[in-house]
Amino acid sequence: MPRSRKAKIVATLGPATADIGSIRALFAAGVDVFRLNASHGTHEVHARVHATIRQVEEEVGRPIAILFDLQGPKLRIGDFESREGVTVEAGARFRLDLDPRLGCARRVELPHPEVFSVLVPGTTLLINDGLVRLEVLECGPDHAETRVVVGGRLSNHKGLNVPDLVLPVSPVTDKDARDLEFGLGLGVDWVAASFVQRASDVDAVKARVGGRARLMVKLEKPAAVREQKDLMDIVDAADGVMVARGDLGVELPPEKVPSVQKRVVRACRDAGRPVVVATQMLESMVNAPVPTRAEVSDVAGAIYDGADAVMLSAETATGKYPVAAVEMMDHVIQEVESDEHYRTLMDATAPAPQPFVADAICDALRHVVKTLHAPVIATFTSSGFSTLRAARERPEAPILSLTPDPVTARQLSLVWGVHAVRDEDVREVQQMVDNACSAALAAGFAKPGQPIVIMAGMPFGISGTTNMIRVAEIPTPPTTEVE
Ligand code: PGA
Ligand code: MN
Repeated sequence: MPRSRKAKIVATLGPATADIGSIRALFAAGVDVFRLNASHGTHEVHARVHATIRQVEEEVGRPIAILFDLQGPKLRIGDFESREGVTVEAGARFRLDLDPRLGCARRVELPHPEVFSVLVPGTTLLINDGLVRLEVLECGPDHAETRVVVGGRLSNHKGLNVPDLVLPVSPVTDKDARDLEFGLGLGVDWVAASFVQRASDVDAVKARVGGRARLMVKLEKPAAVREQKDLMDIVDAADGVMVARGDLGVELPPEKVPSVQKRVVRACRDAGRPVVVATQMLESMVNAPVPTRAEVSDVAGAIYDGADAVMLSAETATGKYPVAAVEMMDHVIQEVESDEHYRTLMDATAPAPQPFVADAICDALRHVVKTLHAPVIATFTSSGFSTLRAARERPEAPILSLTPDPVTARQLSLVWGVHAVRDEDVREVQQMVDNACSAALAAGFAKPGQPIVIMAGMPFGISGTTNMIRVAEIPTPPTTEVE
């Protein structure tokens, strides 16, 4: 059966949920897309989890998307003499350098020459999720002397962020390149690129992916979102976008994250790119069976903004209540979507159609659906393009997307409102209407006598020809004669 909501749920798998029982339960609770995190776990584990998801997909008979998230150029400090690390005090001096010897309270290795190459006095460095803040006083190609602005604990291999600068780093590290080939070999549907700084990074990753999966860009660097033009270029180059609020909230003051989130969701809706809001959405459910009211409100806020999907990270990867977290998200989304104000908002914020035929058709589609109170839309697509343009309208009815391509069907499960179903390659109008009606009936979207709004392109079988809307009535299925 289709989900009874439009926005989608992405759930990260991890040690708490890598077994088939958990994956079945998470899907049943509402997960549409499973995320495998290349930052953790071995290839062997990922391969096993991937196969398990495909087994569940087979069992449930629904396309499930798998998102493989690459670590990207995450910077880390070296190790310390003491396994517990050190505590640095505000006002003290601390040195970062390329010296591989173990660190102490005065210095530690930072094995990234590319960072030293761009530092200038005054640059802020953040370590350990932003808990420790350093300011560069003096620097050279192999070191930086800093002053501790906010003190705290530093220990082996902690992450380092440089929020102010565009770093001359490749968006694909050696590890990413290996992980990417491995993931594409498995047959993942989406790949996520982390710490993207500019549109040319997106092009570079896309060239490597080479059309073997769709590319999601994680926005977690201030440089990527600071200028609207740069953001739009990145969004345009990507197939999808994630508002990665974890690292974004380290690199930016946290109070700046909500406005960035809203601006990114808006930009993605304009461009017709699926957008995922991620990180700490129901964080307290890592340890508690119920979320805070503020977390519930955060999930609801992302849905009211019109995001395609909301994501769970530690809640489902390592948390104690993974299934409850998905159920909670499912309930929140359904509640928002049944609010009249939500519909008003989606209509009021629908982006203007771009001047091409598919958008003119999709714009009309939304109005036809509203006027007729049609319970379902059917789109015929091979690449997924026309379905994405229809979803961009955030129409009132769910979008039953019929496609002959199983890969497209899986990829579309991330997209707002879309219920993708495999269908034969239709060749004529009557076949199109018949297939749309029987798929809508089979999925329980519509009853006999109700209108279905069908969007397709003629001549059939050629991508990019979206040029017609056909409204049909769902026929009464022939009753089986009893002799
Ligand atoms: P991560 O990305 O979980 O891979 O760090 C998401 C984020 O930073 O929000
Ligand atoms: Mn991140």
